[in-house]
Amino acid sequence: MTTSVSNAVKNGQSMAAAGATNSNGASFSKSARVAAVSAVTNWKPISPPLNFAESPAQDLYACNVFGPAALKQRLPKPVYKSLMKTIETGSKLDPSVADVVAAAMRDWAIGKGATHYAHVFFPLTGITAEKHDSFLSPDGEGGAIAEFSGKQLIQGEPDGSSFPTGGIRATFEARGYTIWDVTSPAYILENPNGTTLCIPTAFVSWTGEALDKKTPVLRSMQALNKQAQRILNLFGQTDGAFVASTAGPEQEYFLVDRHFYFARPDLFTAGRTLFGAKPPKGQEFEDHYFGAIPERVLAFMLESERDLYKLGIPVKTRHNEVAPAQYEIAPVFESANLAADHQQLVMITLRRVAEKYGMACLTHEKPFAGVNGSGKHVNWSLGSKSQGNLLDPGDTPHSNAQFLVFCAAVVRAVYKYQGLLRAVVATAGNDHRLGANEAPPAIISIFLGDQLTDIFRQVKAGGAKTSLSKGTLTVGVDVLPPLPKDAGDRNRTSPFAFTGNRFEFRAVGANQSIAGPLVAMNTIVCESLDYCATKLEKATGGKPEGLHEAVQKLLTEIINECEPIIFNGDGYSAAWHQEAAKRGLLNLKTSPDALGQLGEPEVKKLFTKYEVLSERELQSRLDTYLEQYCKTVRVEALQTVEMAKTLIFPAAIRYQNELASTCANLKLIGYDFDTDTLDKITELVKCLQDSIAVLEKTMLHHDGEGLEAEARYFCDDVVPAMASVRKYVDALEGWVADDLWPLPTYQEMLFIK
Ligand code: ADP
Ligand code: MG
Repeated sequence: MTTSVSNAVKNGQSMAAAGATNSNGASFSKSARVAAVSAVTNWKPISPPLNFAESPAQDLYACNVFGPAALKQRLPKPVYKSLMKTIETGSKLDPSVADVVAAAMRDWAIGKGATHYAHVFFPLTGITAEKHDSFLSPDGEGGAIAEFSGKQLIQGEPDGSSFPTGGIRATFEARGYTIWDVTSPAYILENPNGTTLCIPTAFVSWTGEALDKKTPVLRSMQALNKQAQRILNLFGQTDGAFVASTAGPEQEYFLVDRHFYFARPDLFTAGRTLFGAKPPKGQEFEDHYFGAIPERVLAFMLESERDLYKLGIPVKTRHNEVAPAQYEIAPVFESANLAADHQQLVMITLRRVAEKYGMACLTHEKPFAGVNGSGKHVNWSLGSKSQGNLLDPGDTPHSNAQFLVFCAAVVRAVYKYQGLLRAVVATAGNDHRLGANEAPPAIISIFLGDQLTDIFRQVKAGGAKTSLSKGTLTVGVDVLPPLPKDAGDRNRTSPFAFTGNRFEFRAVGANQSIAGPLVAMNTIVCESLDYCATKLEKATGGKPEGLHEAVQKLLTEIINECEPIIFNGDGYSAAWHQEAAKRGLLNLKTSPDALGQLGEPEVKKLFTKYEVLSERELQSRLDTYLEQYCKTVRVEALQTVEMAKTLIFPAAIRYQNELASTCANLKLIGYDFDTDTLDKITELVKCLQDSIAVLEKTMLHHDGEGLEAEARYFCDDVVPAMASVRKYVDALEGWVADDLWPLPTYQEMLFIK
């Protein structure tokens, strides 16, 4: 099927001038562009403004969540207690409570207007899937009753054969189950015409193998808790309160007007612009970052946040990001599993509400070349109800041995499994961002900051005696208050940075589910804690007196072995690439380079040992992600060919024709005509045609050597062939008459709001 601009416009919002092709050859597209600009500038809100004075945000908060408050109110005490125990301590769920919970949930949901319930799950596509069922069942007497049993709550059976499984299950073996995740509360999703009860679930095959992103998150949290308890026991903390990993994901995104969006087939099929010349003004003035938020965008943010509050998602910060039309939203951190579910809802909500405000929310890692791309920084830590945050150094970290052990365990984990961390952020989209001088490089390293680096230096030299003090910040203006200073500066160029009481994994892509990175972090730290606990247990023989010495020895060992991963300098610099190579750190530049790490023996051993992923499950992920990579590049390449042939080429030859007729006419009446522009256009048109032919030929390739080779081929042959077409298209954009140019330009998309 061809997706022309006119189709796009018809499918999208109506445009006053759609359909016109005027006599002098100016194409329909020109009208689409002008209509888009005019629609954007005349945009009016479609619904009355929200009123937070009438319905304060705190009253709305979690009103659509069947969480602890609703459970307490609606469940018999023993059932409530049993359920909360499972939620808070990770203990086994008592299935006999399901019927009672289901009935309470149904009544609560119907009271909120729900007609259907849906098991929500998270297949390997990275998106959210849901299967809706009505509460109503025929009563056999011509009427219907609202039904929802414990069994329906606990288990669903979507026909799962259409989800990627990486070979775990063939199409004819369609059975897949969704299983209620009691630790992530059910919620109501509103629609203008009704509401749906949504139940977060794990998604597994008939054989019990994970087909989704949630199952390994839950498994890895369970494994992490087990090892963290061993360390805590050594330090005399024996209350057993569940140690959960915590996550606070910062989401970056772009907003462009929907009129532009639908006039760009590349944006709506690939999520990014495949063409587009750099505008005269980009982000060089640094005038967008933290700038005043445009009114329509702020209105969109207020409504998104309001919807997210209702879902009990603790969104906290919002601001303009570095690139024009780029923004960020971040919540307060939560338990990792919940944070992952909530993050999916944040993306869905942003996209939905953007539409209502006449915009499209782009979460692709690199929607526009030449300006910053979008990441999703995943802030990660671990902690328990009784211990609080285990990565909080306190005021004197050098004497906080427990903190140092947890921190050293993370350093060791990142050092040992740098390849895995790189692999879990490997996507076709993120390839455009990592290492592009705006995002961390593809080399995984840790930024520890001055204070911790100094402590580990002291440890190495025989023992840590002091901590660099935090000090006070004074500005030299008497009316400004002095501030307590953070112990260390920030480093925006590090892929994995200690930021005071947590680590920030900055290499994650904006479009990714955070589940994969969380599984990796939980599991590698789990392995490291296991290593530390085993060493310390052995060295102390269970005697607390020996602990101090054993810790000093362990820390020295870890720092000696893992020091190469610590880098506090400029990760964007060329010097770092050389230095990293000297240190023997991996530098896996593209997805096909990085994904192979999932097949490494030590990665297999890691996941199987802690029962987070079996070998087959891991292999299925590797296959699925390689396949996704190939499919993504393939779609982009096909779209490139189509747009280049049916939009760009016609525009270019129309202009060429105009120049040629001018030239011929002038000659007729005896004028000399300078053909420089015509020559240039002619040359570019030729190059464009040739480059399209090369790309098409490249796409004919059929590989029989397996997925890895196929991904390599797409990376090494197809991606450069696409880039070559783009080069000529972008050059033509600078020559062809503006009224003939068919695509909204970067200038229009990024600056007309
Ligand atoms: P910045 O942009 O300065 O890095 P933000 O405020 O945008 O900071 O985001 C910081 C994120 O880190 C927030 O989501 C915050 O809740 C999260 N965070 C803070 N403490 C923890 C923790 N202990 N574990 C996980 N995430 C945390
Ligand atoms: Mg931030």
